[in-house]
Amino acid sequence: MQDYSVKLNKDFSYSLFATWRKQKGFNPITIVDAEGSYIYTNDNRKILDFSSQLMCSNLGHKNKRVISAMIEQMNKVAYVSPSFNTPIKDEIAKELKSVLPENLVKYFFATSGTEANEAAIKIIRMIKGKEGKTKILSYYNSYHGSTSGSIQLTGDFRRIAVDSFERSPGFYHIPPPYCYRCPFNLKYPECNLACVKYAEYVFKNEGNIGGIFVEPVIGTNGVIVPPKDYLRELKKITEENDAIFVADEVMTGWGRTGEWFAVNHFGIKPDILTTAKGITGAYFPLSLTAVNKEISDYFEDNYFAHGHTYEAHPLGLAAAVAAIKEYKEKKLVENAKSLSIELGKRLEEFKEKHKSVGDVRYIGLFAAIELVKNKEKKTPFNTYNEKIEGKQLVVDKVARKALEKGVYVNTWVSHLIIAPPLIITKEELENGLDAIDEALYESDKEVE
Ligand code: PMP
Repeated sequence: MQDYSVKLNKDFSYSLFATWRKQKGFNPITIVDAEGSYIYTNDNRKILDFSSQLMCSNLGHKNKRVISAMIEQMNKVAYVSPSFNTPIKDEIAKELKSVLPENLVKYFFATSGTEANEAAIKIIRMIKGKEGKTKILSYYNSYHGSTSGSIQLTGDFRRIAVDSFERSPGFYHIPPPYCYRCPFNLKYPECNLACVKYAEYVFKNEGNIGGIFVEPVIGTNGVIVPPKDYLRELKKITEENDAIFVADEVMTGWGRTGEWFAVNHFGIKPDILTTAKGITGAYFPLSLTAVNKEISDYFEDNYFAHGHTYEAHPLGLAAAVAAIKEYKEKKLVENAKSLSIELGKRLEEFKEKHKSVGDVRYIGLFAAIELVKNKEKKTPFNTYNEKIEGKQLVVDKVARKALEKGVYVNTWVSHLIIAPPLIITKEELENGLDAIDEALYESDKEVE
């Protein structure tokens, strides 16, 4: 493979969601330029980006159409209050209508995925709260954002870490469809979707549940792809309990999974869809909360007590219109779908070949390699607490090795998360996977 070797700073490590002491020791690589699927360092090194940064730079870097559209918009109207109309609002409405599930008819824009989810939390409570149904469900292994509301909705250790000072009532969690580590110790399909039965039990016995949030494919917590019929059954139960079904597609939207939106794989239409990241290919912070007609009709006559200065920012909308046109014209969703065959084939090989690869999961250009120190017992190398404490994680040693070989990949506790830009070519994908293949010997050395 091509040699993109990177000389690493001595202290380089991964520091997202770490202590401040750990962050102080973090010695980041300085990126001075970027183009397509590559980033360039201040010492003239070229790195293949296998992460799309935070799974958002889906169009790669220096996309001419998006940059020109933003400059053009800036030269016309860089900002006006959301109370005004601008032609770009009509354009984005037309583009969104052409790609979103068709039941979603009304759009609210903000600047982050977190805010898109905050809006959805409030919508549920403004509507269902009137009937006393203020409780909201989500998965334990989920991430929905960092603010006071969305961190309670989040089910992973980041919620637990803030328990001591802010626990708002009304957020409940259910087990995710994590078949590799089934909490019921069952196997699909003989399990008869015990996790859906559990959700049904919670709906019934908890009572007053106004809505449920799901990541249709769980992202940060390990690219957990549910069984084919799981979401359909969960949606059915949500309907039977007259609650609102929210698909959080902040990470999975915009072709990442080989469909425009991950819900398309599972034949469901959410009542609300939240998204961000790939909507502009990360050229501008923009997020979207899209709702169905019933919810839209409700706010025709009921006060929508929500809004931001920078909602529907014209630069964000211009970037999004151009990004959607790029996804369409360059057939990037199709690219993600077709390259997933090669990606899946290689990952299955890694599972066979490497002692430390416990499980691999993939859909589109989105994949996780779950590392274990004992395959039979499925023992993870590291725990959430070790991540919080800033301990050197085995997975980071693997990522560091990949980086030495010129490929940047994201990590999460005991997972490598693979999410290259959707513009990536087959050859680049193969080069990146070759580097990861070699890097996995780092964790193989540490198995029990
Ligand atoms: N939901 C999901 C599924 C996410 O992956 C993220 C971010 N990783 C968020 C919400 C929060 O988005 P943001 O960081 O833009 O606030």
